[in-house]
Amino acid sequence: MAPGGGILIPTRLPLLLTHEGVLLPGSTVRFTVGSARNMQLVSQRLLKGTSLKSTIIGVLPNSRDPEHDSDDLPALHGIGTAGIAVQVVGSNWPKPHYTLLISGLCRFRVSSLLKERPFVLAEVEQLDKLEQYTTPATEGVSADDGELRELSKKFYQASLQLLGMLDVSIPVVAKFRRLLDSLPRETLPDVVASMIHTSNKEKLQVLDAVSLEERFKKALPMLTRQIDGLKLLQKTRKTSPDNEKRVLSVRKGGAFPGRQFNLDEEDEDEDGDDTTVLERKVRAANMPEAALKVCLKELKRLKKLPQSMPEYALTRNYLDLMVELPWSKSTKDCLDIRAARTLLDNDHYAMDKLKRRVLEYLAVRQLKTSLKGPILCFVGPPGVGKTSVGRSIARTLGREFHRIALGGVCDQSDIRGHRRTYVGSMPGRIINGLKTVGVNNPVFLLDEVDKLGKSLQGDPAAALLEVLDPEQNHSFTDHYLNVAFDLSQVLFIATANTTATIPPALLDRMEVLQVPGYTQEEKVEIAHRHLIPNQLEQHGLTPQQLLIPQDTTQDIISRHTREAGVRSLERKIGAVCRAVAVKVAEGHPSIKTDTLIPAGPVEPEDKVIPPEMPIVIDHIALKDILGPPLFEMEVSERFTLPGVALGLAWTPLGGEIMFVEASRMEGEGQLTLTGQLGDVMKESAHLAISWLRANAKTYQLTNMVGAPDPLEGTDIHLHFPAGAVTKDGPSAGITIVACLASLFSGRLVRSDVAMTGEITLRGLVLPVGGIKDKVLAAYRAGVKCVILPKRNEKDLEELPANIRANLDFVTAGNLDEVLNAAFDGGFQRTAGPPAAPQLTSKL
Ligand code: ADP
Repeated sequence: MAPGGGILIPTRLPLLLTHEGVLLPGSTVRFTVGSARNMQLVSQRLLKGTSLKSTIIGVLPNSRDPEHDSDDLPALHGIGTAGIAVQVVGSNWPKPHYTLLISGLCRFRVSSLLKERPFVLAEVEQLDKLEQYTTPATEGVSADDGELRELSKKFYQASLQLLGMLDVSIPVVAKFRRLLDSLPRETLPDVVASMIHTSNKEKLQVLDAVSLEERFKKALPMLTRQIDGLKLLQKTRKTSPDNEKRVLSVRKGGAFPGRQFNLDEEDEDEDGDDTTVLERKVRAANMPEAALKVCLKELKRLKKLPQSMPEYALTRNYLDLMVELPWSKSTKDCLDIRAARTLLDNDHYAMDKLKRRVLEYLAVRQLKTSLKGPILCFVGPPGVGKTSVGRSIARTLGREFHRIALGGVCDQSDIRGHRRTYVGSMPGRIINGLKTVGVNNPVFLLDEVDKLGKSLQGDPAAALLEVLDPEQNHSFTDHYLNVAFDLSQVLFIATANTTATIPPALLDRMEVLQVPGYTQEEKVEIAHRHLIPNQLEQHGLTPQQLLIPQDTTQDIISRHTREAGVRSLERKIGAVCRAVAVKVAEGHPSIKTDTLIPAGPVEPEDKVIPPEMPIVIDHIALKDILGPPLFEMEVSERFTLPGVALGLAWTPLGGEIMFVEASRMEGEGQLTLTGQLGDVMKESAHLAISWLRANAKTYQLTNMVGAPDPLEGTDIHLHFPAGAVTKDGPSAGITIVACLASLFSGRLVRSDVAMTGEITLRGLVLPVGGIKDKVLAAYRAGVKCVILPKRNEKDLEELPANIRANLDFVTAGNLDEVLNAAFDGGFQRTAGPPAAPQLTSKL
């Protein structure tokens, strides 16, 4: 039936391809939209348009939109329903999708496809009149067709009969009644077919019935079937409002109020099957009583929800998670201390102290067979193997391993999940981790506990406390799950770069194991024993194809990396492997023979033959692959003027060398400090100046014109380069003294000396921390002598023997000793009372 003038829908309609349901004119249906083209239609047309016209789209049933934009369109159904999108709801859970509420207007036929991307646009021909919905006319069907009139009358009466069987005190039934009288009769087949219980196939038949007569004929048997069904039901059950409510499942919302109810007798069959399967799974999941109760309650709710409601997906996801969680699945521990020792030794070079402590920990575990006890926390610079020791522990126990990165987590729901009332709510990382590993006794590595943040959304550290506390964690309650999960079988290990920023309450629960950085020699060993073999394997190479001599490794370590751990070293070795892999894959030695030297005889270049094996990486090849060295030994170059000294600093990333520079100019005795210093560091500078002024005479320190007070008519500027890095701590004290003594005396500090130590106003040198890391940094930088506080002498024992052999150490109890060691030939003092008599008398 042609529309024959009147209100027209646009002739070019964007099409929504759907497999979910059939929209008939005069009804309102909710569609979930997730595929590429349909999403584009929503975002580019519905959400962008401002006119009423832009909300009109065509819904084409039985035409699934391919998941990928690039896929070709399937054959499309020829007839669809134009409709107004009355509501668009977007959600990201469980994956990005929109839910559209669309009210059907009229049929159309697709004449031709205009474009397929970004969404489908078609030229359409309108098949129904639109006026029929806007002009209420009880006798809508034209009187000249007798048969049609007869049919429409029959249909109207059958609808009345259906209504008579329902209780009009129920609002939807009352609405249906009102509608029945106010709507034109010719619209009844569409409206009724969408309300009563019909399958999608039947609705499609009604949609495809373009002629009105055929439409009545198709819809009438469905209506009578519904009436018969109801009759049967009423016979078997005593009719009560309750029963009617059961048979009337109401669909919410919509622009055509009153037309959105569905006279389903039962839930859809497929849905029923699905929930039965789910119920079986829930019962088989072996969950504790309380959890089971919650699940069964949710299941009951799920059965009542129509699938198109967003809540359906939410509840369904919740139940799926509950079923998947390892409530009572665990792996069996297989701990053999001797094997564990071998495994740890095989996986890791050096780190003896750490390995010993880990073994003790495991042994106690084995004897006690309980998991209560402190949580191990490995503290050290990046790339020293903290994570990889954690992984080895899991392996020795035969447990699953899961890493939870806590860096930057500042919301407690990250740990404990979101309540399910939020859209997009999720369980926290702990529960997610358990789901991933699928057992309830994994090893969880809480990575970077020192980088936990804090925000308005609550303190994640507090949530972690609950997770780690053996008294509480057997009933850990994730907000999303809302039932307790027993975490007491999980073995937690934490890692951090520094203990300074670990929340104190958390630190209190943990046993800190320091993992310091490696020396150059240790790194070479680690590279040859572990990193190179691993990288070769990862790049599909064999030792017969690539050889990295020790010299080259040393070159990489000292000139291409500057780090406490071995992470960049590993990356650089990876880069070498990649470069060689290309050559091996190309299968010919077109590499310049002077850069990559094949071990065997060199073939003429133009002949395409495989490269001689192995390819040996020498210094030139290394420069070719990694580029010019990033770090050069620059220390000595900076000691060309008085007023420079080299200090040693500790950072969470390991030890660092740190220059201190000073200059002076005419002025009024002011001190300027630059380089982002903390308060403690500023105080050290003031202390140093005061001590030097007090002892200026003894050491013959003068100002610029030779006056006995170094500050007279003079301003001093102290600078700590690398101004972007904040520096604090007392350990720069003796370096500042040496630097200023150099400035005031005009003599150069020895360029091969580095120092660390706190000072007092009386010139004593107090001990400081991080000696091993600092000495390693000094050694890396090519320093020959390290000055440190006397009371740190015991820390030297921890240093590897080769470092002790190669470096000179001066342990100083007072500043006089510091200055004597820092300047070539000592720092001359004039005769007089000793600077620190109380100390010399003790020595
Ligand atoms: P972290 O967790 O301390 O930042 P990782 O555990 O990620 O460091 O270690 C980085 C890489 O260095 C890993 O490939 C690891 O196997 C390797 N590695 C570190 N220390 C050692 C060691 N002592 N022996 C062998 N390999 C090591």
